[in-house]
Amino acid sequence: MNYSDAERFAAKLDELGYKETANDKEADLIVLITCSVRKSAEDRVYGAINNYRKKKLYPKVKKIILSGCMALRSEVLKKTDKADIFMDIKDLKVLPQLLKQKAKSLEIGEYFSIKPKYASKFMAYVPIMTGCNNFCSYCIVPYVRGREISRQPQEIINEVKDLIRNGYKEIILLGQNVNSYSPELRAQSSKLKIKDFPDLLEYIAKLPGNFWLRFITSHPKDLSDKLIRVMAKNKKICEQINLPIQSGDNVILKKMNRHYTVAHYKYLVRKLRKNIPGIAISTDVIVGFPEETKKQFGNTAKLFKEVKFDMAYINKYSPREETAAARLKDNISKAEKVKRAAALTKVLSSGALENNKKLVGKTLDVLVISRGRKGDWIGETRTSKMVKFKSEKNLLGKFININIIEAKDFGLIGMLTKK
Ligand code: SAH
Ligand code: SF4
Repeated sequence: MNYSDAERFAAKLDELGYKETANDKEADLIVLITCSVRKSAEDRVYGAINNYRKKKLYPKVKKIILSGCMALRSEVLKKTDKADIFMDIKDLKVLPQLLKQKAKSLEIGEYFSIKPKYASKFMAYVPIMTGCNNFCSYCIVPYVRGREISRQPQEIINEVKDLIRNGYKEIILLGQNVNSYSPELRAQSSKLKIKDFPDLLEYIAKLPGNFWLRFITSHPKDLSDKLIRVMAKNKKICEQINLPIQSGDNVILKKMNRHYTVAHYKYLVRKLRKNIPGIAISTDVIVGFPEETKKQFGNTAKLFKEVKFDMAYINKYSPREETAAARLKDNISKAEKVKRAAALTKVLSSGALENNKKLVGKTLDVLVISRGRKGDWIGETRTSKMVKFKSEKNLLGKFININIIEAKDFGLIGMLTKK
């Protein structure tokens, strides 16, 4: 989401005549698009602002803009007064006035209508909604981003069509919980009639062009059979899903206000794997939630062993102001959280390696996404796995075929196929 916000911000600055620099020592304007989800991310931003204010280190810096979630939190304003402008990302259209310190609020629709300056020439994030209505007990997102608002389908489709016309190869639809996308039907033309997320996904998947389609994030409580059917039926939708579990223990899941059980989650995994062969499943998880016992953590480790995720974002719990969980005592020590995260990483790594070993000897479709050292290239499979291979030719942004010769836990090594 922040990545996508930054692309819209960059476009607006371009329009105002600002030039981007790769070296922040050269910059006179610093813009920080921030995330509040984890306390550690916020702490890094405070550190960065302090640094940018040091004249010796950054003599050219005249203005600092703090935007994204942190700019919306009153707690942040109490902790730092060193940014010049605290700005809601929705106020982007009035950036010129804001730069002169006259703030005004914008409707979300106007924010979406700003054409972003995409950071990549072949991969783009497209927001389909903002906000969240779920109030998971640990999460600050609903407080800073507000309630869910779904973007009009026609606008999303126009943005995607534009990207395809410009040769984009990978489109990633973004929302905190894409499965609760619910656009207004009244405002749509009769030939669209997009009621929910699977409708939108299928419509985009059927657009002509050679591209891959992905989405993040799916809340397990709302993952429907219709979505699985659409994924299974449409070749352009990659066989990959991020399905955050957060905990493998039912008592903790209840305390987290997640509205599903471990058994339901496992049922979804089975259904996904049965209907979409070869699908890669990743997850988000939190270790050290208040009062998480060793046994309860053990249940998460057990689930990881059973499911064999391809990837997981393992987060150490940190209390966030205003959330329901912040009223509980954060009683798991930092050292214990580190230990649990490391133990889970180990289980994850062995499951992922087992999955990847099955790919050795296969030829996979790969999108080349970056260049490593000395003739090494990095590509991405449809299942979001990184593949390293060698090539003399510049293949950046191209679809190629790769023979997989070696499997690592979080990556593959391969060779370009002879055509
Ligand atoms: N909408 C997504 C998650 C968005 S936040 C979902 O429902 O899963 C991204 C991740 O940050 C979450 O999945 C969670 O694992 C982590 N996270 C959120 N709040 C946290 C907190 N207080 N402490 C640690 N991790 C947290
Ligand atoms: Fe946060 Fe839960 Fe909403 Fe995800 S679904 S953004 S974790 S409140």
